[in-house]
Formats: sequence, structure tokens, C-alpha cells
Amino acid sequence: MPEVVFPLDSTKKFPDQQLVGHNRWHPDIPPVATVSPGQSFRVHCREWFDGEIHNDDSAMDVRDAPLSIVHALSGPFAVQGAEPGDLLVVDILDVGPIPQEDSGPLAGQGWGYTGIFARQNGGGFLTDYFPDAYKAVWDFRGQTASSRHVPGVTFTGMVHPGLMGVAPSAALLAKWNQRESALRATDPDRVPPLSLPPLPQDAILGSLTGADFDRVASEAARTAPPRENGGNQDIKNLTKGSRVFYPVYVPGANLSVGDLHFSQGDGEITFCGAIEMGGFVDLHVDLIKGGMDKYGVSENAIFLPGNNNPQYCQWLAFSGISVTTDGEQRYLDSQLAFQRACLHAIDYLTRFGYSPEQAYLILGAVPIEGRFSGVVDIPNACATVYIPTEIFDFDVRPSASGPTKIKPGRGAPTASF
Ligand code: ZN
Repeated sequence: MPEVVFPLDSTKKFPDQQLVGHNRWHPDIPPVATVSPGQSFRVHCREWFDGEIHNDDSAMDVRDAPLSIVHALSGPFAVQGAEPGDLLVVDILDVGPIPQEDSGPLAGQGWGYTGIFARQNGGGFLTDYFPDAYKAVWDFRGQTASSRHVPGVTFTGMVHPGLMGVAPSAALLAKWNQRESALRATDPDRVPPLSLPPLPQDAILGSLTGADFDRVASEAARTAPPRENGGNQDIKNLTKGSRVFYPVYVPGANLSVGDLHFSQGDGEITFCGAIEMGGFVDLHVDLIKGGMDKYGVSENAIFLPGNNNPQYCQWLAFSGISVTTDGEQRYLDSQLAFQRACLHAIDYLTRFGYSPEQAYLILGAVPIEGRFSGVVDIPNACATVYIPTEIFDFDVRPSASGPTKIKPGRGAPTASF
């Protein structure tokens, strides 16, 4: 096992750990450790809500989830010799949940959760149709996940970090704050908001204290969006075996990682749509000196996905076009087309006895494939959603005999129960 450079004790909250991570982006957050090019190391990760979401049958915790505390990120790790203009090469050697048999301070997991966020607290891709909070708890058995809240479904996870990235430079951070506040100003009262401003409340900034803490807390970017530094990209294909190339913006690069997912569908559509969990990730780092210029990678990471994916070979696919549910024609709106494809899939799954919320949770958590299939055929964009049929313990394909009904199970409880 590689050396643990960021240990966590799961009996303690994130700010009370031996090494304190961070939950905002800023170049002045001091590194917690320094690693060398060529080094492999292990990092423990808290789940993104630092233990606020519980293994129970109520979604009150998701409804009231404290968004100001996310994401609990491990790091930053300075890489010796990294300079602005380099590419940081990060190999994901291994990633997984905390082993259930672990009897140490990290024991007690082996499960994760998927949430539908309420419109009033975060929202989601289909928040106009699903304004209330729901939660499904998933149990892990080796590589597979199943849930007492979503009967009839068992599948192999594609374990990955939802969030990994490097620190922005001061100039890049200023650019983020400028462009995101300009967007917010176009509709400042919107619920959910168009973007999130810096928020000193609940900021965790490593070892910073005093006036430095106050200054950085007032400037630091929230971790929700993906940006040029990588960040919360939620790419389900960043599995074990992946190699990511990050542009380096500050001396040392200052790499951070967190928000581990046992599985996720393309789009992470419920917003808390992956199976969120705490766990570990083993990383190996290296540098390509001057790589940003050499390869033209100056904005946004590139990566080689791992080849450790489940071997699903049969898929039931749903398509959608850029026409609203009210019948209004939109021009090549791929976001809308993808929504319609998801709504189509949800409606189909309800014919088998699932509630719409259970079907929505399936699309968020299962490794579905989402594609922009056509983006040029005016006026309709076409998007498609592919669900592996083998995840169901019944035949989900259409046939002359009609859909078989599943037993509803305990369902996915809402906050209002
Ligand atoms: Zn996540």
C-alpha cells in the first residue's frame, strides 16, 4: 500500500482532523504535504457532505443539506518542481470505498447514497419536475451496488473521484469571480441561483488563520462547478487506470481530490446524483515540463480513461429532441433534448412499477451513457440515454406481454414523510 499522505479518522469531522483539507479554491491555501514526481501515495477522502447524510429512510438530511460546507477536499498536495506552464500527470492507481472489514478509525462505511436535491436547496437537472428531496441508500458488495429504496436493480459501479483538480492562479481566480458574478447579475433572484458567490461561512482553508483566512475566505471560489483547473467535473469514466493531464497554474500545482463516487450516470442528473461515499484514492504524479504550450492544453484537463469498466453489452436507449413538454420548438438546444431523453426513460420505467423518483435515482446512480447524438439538424438537437438492461432482475425490454410489475419495496422516502 502506498504511503498515506492524507489520513482521515471517520469518527471526526473534517475540520477536526490531524491534517485539515479545504472546501474552496484559492492559490493561497497552503499545501498539506509535498510529493515528488514519480511518487505514489494514498489519500483518504470524506464523502462530500462530511457525514451529514445518514443511512436511514428519511430524506430530511438531503432536504436540509448544508451546501456551504461542500466539497470536503483532501489536499492540496504540492508537487516538487511543478511550475506554471507544466502539465501535471496524475494516474489513478486505485480508488474505492473504505473496506467494510477495516476495524480502524475509518470503519463503518460500505454504503453510499444518492439524493434528489430540493429546488429550494440546490435543485437538479429536472428540478421543474422533481422539486422535492429524496434519497436512496446503496449497499456495496464487492463491486456491486443495490438499494432497499430501489428494488429490482443491482449493478457494477464505476468507482471514480467526482472532483480532482489543481489550484487556480490569482489571475484565473479573479477571472472566475468576474464572469460568474456577471452571469448571476442577469437574474439575481433566481432559485436555484445561476452561480454561487464566494462564501466565508463554513469555509475550510487548511491551516490558514487570522487575517489571511478572512481574506482568502472572501475571495475563494466555490467548488460546485468544473472549471479550467478540473474540479467538480463528475466524469464517471475517471476510473482506476485513468491518467489525467492538468494545466499547472501555481508553483507546486497544488492538487486536491475528493467527492468519491461508487458509481454515476452520465450527467449526474439529480445533482447529488452519483452514489456518494467516503473512501481512498491511490495516485501517482509526474510532470511534463512546459507541457501546456507543447500540447496546447492551457484550459481544461485532458485525460486517458481507464479500461476498468463493467462489461454491459445490451442497452435500452431513449431519445429526446429540443421541444419542451409544452410543445414549444427550441433551436438546437441539446440541454433540453437531454432532459427530454431522461424524462422519456423515467416515464418508461414507471410502467414497471417504479415511482418517478426511483426512476430518476436510477438514472443518476447507474452507469448510464448519455450522448449528444445530433447537434446540426435544424431545428432539433437529438440526445440519447442508454440504460444497461442487465442491471434489472426482470426483463425491462418491450414485449407483446407488457411490462411486469416489480414489488415496490420501501420506496425512496421524501422529506415530507
Ligand atoms: Zn459527488
